Amino acid sequence: MNKGVLVILSGPSGCGKGTVRHLLFEHHPDALAFSVSCTTRNPRPGETDGVDYHFITQEAFDQMIGENGFLEYARFVGKSYGTPLEPILRWMEKGINPILEIEVQGALQVKEKMPECVSVFLLPPSMEELASRLRGRGTEPEEVIAGRLSRAEEEMKLASQYDYQVINDDPLRAAEEIYAIIKNETEKRGENGI
Ligand code: 5GP
Repeated sequence: MNKGVLVILSGPSGCGKGTVRHLLFEHHPDALAFSVSCTTRNPRPGETDGVDYHFITQEAFDQMIGENGFLEYARFVGKSYGTPLEPILRWMEKGINPILEIEVQGALQVKEKMPECVSVFLLPPSMEELASRLRGRGTEPEEVIAGRLSRAEEEMKLASQYDYQVINDDPLRAAEEIYAIIKNETEKRGENGI
């Protein structure tokens, strides 16, 4: 059986990655498996442990690092985030395509370890739009928003290192563009065409 293709989706905080990813799964449920990350940040309202993230302590996170349990991990605005390795290997072995919604440092680690992956960077239509989306979410204090905005500017500089850049001018259009990219890439490799 052909191996699954690993897909990385990055983009600055507030660019609408989560919404686009949900639409992708809603419209193409068989195409991908979502990699649930571990994080040491607190859940936001509406987030569920084990579905959106595995919410764990820094101690548990450090233990997983010690056991080589992460494919990649990074710090982001004072908190730790990491991709559990085991489910990724299991899916790929079964011909399922995992999608990782991760920030840029982690994405670069994955590209080095698994160069055959497909990477997509989601861009906001503008920085003004990004700032207003982050504030509009209303779930974070101003200093966290400021941290996320300055991080966003840094992340955007690395967009060109990704295989594809997609502008999130409309979430459904962006989701369909990403689906087309994945379909094309899997077919091109003769692997698990979707
Ligand atoms: P948020 O706190 O907004 O959910 O996520 C903050 C940033 O961390 C986002 O860019 C998100 O994509 C990224 N992120 C989520 N999970 C992981 C992970 O497992 N590894 C890395 N490197 N970044 C992650």
